[in-house]
Amino acid sequence: MTEPHCIFCRIVRGELPTKRIFEDDEILVFPDINPAAPVHLLMVPKTHVATLDAAGAEHERLLGRMLLLAPRLAREQGATNGFRIVINNGPDGGQEVYHLHVHVLGGPRPWKRL
Ligand code: 5GP
Ligand code: ZN
Repeated sequence: MTEPHCIFCRIVRGELPTKRIFEDDEILVFPDINPAAPVHLLMVPKTHVATLDAAGAEHERLLGRMLLLAPRLAREQGATNGFRIVINNGPDGGQEVYHLHVHVLGGPRPWKRL
């Protein structure tokens, strides 16, 4: 299920253009529009889950799959010397887009932020 006005749901539905780096039936990966590192991917579930807080046991497999996918995609996208995973949650966690996403950050330092 997607939400009509959610920006990442709109990307999932193909209403907003992006480079679809990886996708299957439940996960989409695309570049961050404002990259904080030379490699900056966003991994999202295709179904709308607002926050990590809102995820439940039914998302256990999905979250596991996202984490296990990250090293491969990071490497394939050029982060060959390590990467960082970030999930911002809620206002004090600095979350700006309320559709659960995993940041995958890598590439040569220094990075712009984080
Ligand atoms: P948050 O702060 O919610 O963890 O991160 C949201 C991220 O989404 C930010 O890094 C921001 O640059 C990225 N972002 C926001 N809008 C868009 C968009 O329309 N397309 C893409 N590719 N990234 C976006
Ligand atoms: Zn959404």
